[in-house]
Amino acid sequence: MTTSGATRISCFVSRWFSRIRTGAREGGAGIAALFYPPQCVTCGAPVAWGEVLCATCEEHLPGRVGPHCDRCGDLLDDERVDLCLRCGTHLRGFERAISLGPYDGGWRTLIALFKFDREKAVGRWLGLRLADAAARSLSEVACVTHVPMTRAERKARGGNPSQELARVVARRLRAPERSLLQKTRTTRPQRTLPARERAVNLRGAFRGVRSGTGTVLLVDDLLTTGATVDECGRVLKSEGYSEVYVLTVVRA
Ligand SMILES: [Zn+2]
Ligand SMILES: [Zn+2]
Repeated sequence: MTTSGATRISCFVSRWFSRIRTGAREGGAGIAALFYPPQCVTCGAPVAWGEVLCATCEEHLPGRVGPHCDRCGDLLDDERVDLCLRCGTHLRGFERAISLGPYDGGWRTLIALFKFDREKAVGRWLGLRLADAAARSLSEVACVTHVPMTRAERKARGGNPSQELARVVARRLRAPERSLLQKTRTTRPQRTLPARERAVNLRGAFRGVRSGTGTVLLVDDLLTTGATVDECGRVLKSEGYSEVYVLTVVRA
């Protein structure tokens, strides 16, 4: 056999095993499940189907400590104030941001697995927890939407992680999931820019594609300064929606 033939077969076998492993982690039944029972993604302990973390690792997911801004959830130095400097001095595009935890420890691992390694089972697990957090904080939402990407960005990422989360959230909340926004141009990654350049980077990058009324739940994976959701929220309000609540896995 030629070297390239052997390499092709070896690639095929490795892809096959990887598919079986992914199927098992995603809760796939059948023979694959016998060989690859689901494991905790951080410590490797066995977990029940549909779970991605064992009870111990879930318990150790970092929580929010100290006072934080009533609107965006940023940590505050002074517990006598309700809002951070940014929320206190800028008109924000959303009413309140809800997140599951800080961008740290196990949350950071989960985000990396979902966003960069594209582990769909982790996305579903995160989506369900986001839905439960939203249900605890909000009484009614007209629809659930996501922060959009351009076609090139979706292709590079292998889909839009925010939309995948929004779908799970909507299903769990029994609310309609709608694509209300479109991203009109590729922008530089927000995390690479200083805070003052982030709003400029996004200006005019989103447009509304469907008008409506009521409260919108806007889903994204990560919230940093909130410049992206600010811009999206402003567009949604210009389309007629009265309130925008932001729901993200983590708050950096
Ligand atoms: Zn574990
Ligand atoms: Zn704030």
